[in-house]
This record gives sequence, structure tokens and C-alpha cells, in this order.
Amino acid sequence: MKKYIALLVSCSIGSAYAQNYDLLLQGGRVVDAKNGIAAIRDVAIKEGRIAAVAPKIDPGQALKTINVAGLYVSPGLIDIHVHVFAGTGERGSYAGDSSVYPDGYTFRNGVTTVADAGSSGYRNFEDFKDRIIDRARTRVLVFLNIVGNGMRGGRYENDLKDMEAAPTAAMAMKHKDIVVGVKTAHYSGPEWTPVEHAVEAGTAAKIPVMVDFGNDHPERPLADLVTKKLRPGDIYTHCYSGLRHELTDNGKVNPGMVEGRKRGVIFDVGHGGGSFAWRIATPAIKQGFLPDSISTDLHVSSAAGGMKDMLNVMSKFLALGLSADDVIAKSTWNPAREIKREELGNLSVGAIADVAVLRVEKGKFGFLDMYGARLDGAQKFVAEMTIKGGKVVYDLNGLGRPAWTTLPKDYLYFADPRWDAVSPARGGRGGAAKK
Ligand SMILES: [Zn+2]
Repeated sequence: MKKYIALLVSCSIGSAYAQNYDLLLQGGRVVDAKNGIAAIRDVAIKEGRIAAVAPKIDPGQALKTINVAGLYVSPGLIDIHVHVFAGTGERGSYAGDSSVYPDGYTFRNGVTTVADAGSSGYRNFEDFKDRIIDRARTRVLVFLNIVGNGMRGGRYENDLKDMEAAPTAAMAMKHKDIVVGVKTAHYSGPEWTPVEHAVEAGTAAKIPVMVDFGNDHPERPLADLVTKKLRPGDIYTHCYSGLRHELTDNGKVNPGMVEGRKRGVIFDVGHGGGSFAWRIATPAIKQGFLPDSISTDLHVSSAAGGMKDMLNVMSKFLALGLSADDVIAKSTWNPAREIKREELGNLSVGAIADVAVLRVEKGKFGFLDMYGARLDGAQKFVAEMTIKGGKVVYDLNGLGRPAWTTLPKDYLYFADPRWDAVSPARGGRGGAAKK
């Protein structure tokens, strides 16, 4: 124990000489679409913010230096379609058992920000906030469902009377810091009402609308949705589902989608358990119809099915021929802009230091779609390290850690809390590291 204390003391003496940086990531390939950087750079972090990005930064200036050569250094990934309203105990409901707790799925995937896509509506948003959002270490943002009761199943989601624009917009404006959009989803009827009311709420609150277009109906064709009903900046999710004529009968991308994109409508992946098919995505991408943003539609069953997780969905786009740089841009800066959170998804000096350190593994991999059909790929993203607000929250292979044999015999938590937030019991059990 004495040795351990001595180590602590020497650390604190060391840190008395003011270092310019808390953490330095050295030699990785920085992909920062906002700033047009795709090159080997060092990234320095200080007090939770990006402090410098340069070809060479002196490690003598940093409290902690981690060599990330051969890896991608990306802004923390942003997944704008997830379901994380867990914990209510409601069976068969996205405001309950079908949702997952975010932290167990995010950091291990390089994800630092998620947007819940309509699990809650104005009636239960504040319960969601108290139960999950305020307690999660992941940054949880929200698309409020136009259905006041949120995504609690068909009985609620088809109730046109509970799709009110005014209270939805009012709740969105009350929680501007969390609510980034309005969602409509799973509507089975032929009416346009859910979309119209969602757009009305989005217009009042000045936020985008995300549409899961529900059952296919000739009365409300996809082309009309994206060329007439949605505004520029609104988001069509599940864009490779094939469930609503995303491809025409002769295999061409729906001309309405091409037209909608020209108008500024956004096309998002939203993979999910039933919204991504190789027989749709492959021809669409061959024809040049790429997604604006890559998102998972994470929930209990999609995580166990073909979707799995954010990096698996991103890897599918590598298998479809996109570059790693492009896939990263579609999972960081693009979604940040779509949800109007331009302080996220980039590594500008002064930006919040959310960072994903990713490896592209080479090998033989198989990727499944919603139907269980496989596409083989030779590359796969793996998260080596995730940093949130300047602190390491996930470190797969201990890149930033010493071998245990080099530590004092009775070592306890030793990493400096200015860059480390992995050690779960820091400040609790094992209180020696409290200071
Ligand atoms: Zn969803």
C-alpha cells in the first residue's frame, strides 16, 4: 500500500507542472468530415474539449499519451435511431421491454450520442427523462413521438386522436436541450394525419421530423411523402427496407426518393429488425443512392438479429463498397447536422472531446439482413477505445494501460481521473483512489 501511495504522490507531483493536455492520441488516422481532415494527426484533449489537432504534438505536453497508430480516430459516433426507453416494465412495448438500456450498447461501439426515435411521446417523455436520460452516461437525445403515448403498440400508435401537434411541440420546446425532432411511426391506416401533425409540431418547435412510414398504402405513396409532405431537412428512415416501394418493380430507386433528396429530404438507414434488405440496399447503392446517415434502430430483438450493433451496420457499408472515411462521416458529422447538433460529430478545437478510436479488421466476415440473408465482407469495424467528454469510457485491449506486472504488488485503481473514466469503482469501493 505504501508503494501505491508513493506512486500516487509522485503522479500528483508530476501533474503539479501544468501539462497543456490531459490526453494525447498519437498517430491515428483522423477522420473529421466537418473540417475536411482525413489524414494522420495527433489529437490533444484538455478539460473535456479538443485542444489541438496537428501532425505532431509533443507528448511532453500531455499527462497521458496513447499510441493509436494504424487506427481511425473519429468523432464519437452518433446513432440517430435507437430505442432506449427501458425499465418501465411494460411488455411488448418500446416504452418498456423492447427497449434497451443505452450504456451497455453504446460505448463498446464507439457511440457517444444516441437519439431515441419516438419511444416516448409528450405524455411519457418526462418519465423517460427521469428513468433513463438523466441517468445514462451516453448522451441521449430524443425524437418525440407525435403519438402522445409514444411507441406502446398498435392500440396507441393508430389512435389519431392522440397525435396532437401543440402539446408535442410544447414539450419539445420545454426540453430543447434533449428533444431534437418529432417522430411518426408504425401507422397502419391510409390517412396522412400522423405525418401532417408531426410536420406541424416540427414546424412549431423548429426541429426535423423523422418518418417510419408504417404500412404501405396507395393513398399515401412514398413519392408524395418525400416530394410534397416532408420539408427539406426532414428524415426518411428505413430507406433500404423495400417495404414501401423504395425500389420500383423494375429495380430502380423510386424516382420520388431521388426527387425528394434534391429537395433536401434526408435518407437514413434505420436498420432495425425488419428494415434492411440486401436485395434493396445493393442495387440502390449501385445506382448511387447512398444513405445520408447510418443508424441502427437498436432495440432488444434487432440487437440479436441481423442488425447487431452500430459498427456492424457501418461495416455493411464497407462491404457495399463505401470507404471507411465516408462511412465514418455518415455516422458522425452527417447525423450531427441532421439533428442540428453541430457542436457534436466533429473534432474542431474547442469541440466536446467525444472520440471513437476504431480498427478496421481484415478477415472473412458475414453480414445478415432482416431476412437472414448473408453478404460476405472482408472488413469490419471494431471499437478499440471510446472517449466521452475527454475521458476514456471504453478500452477494448487496454491500449492506454500498463501491464499488471509493471505495477506495485498491491495495486488498486491508478489511472488519472483527468483522462480515465473506465474504472467502475473509482471513488466507491477501492476508495484509495478517491483523490
Ligand atoms: Zn425504430
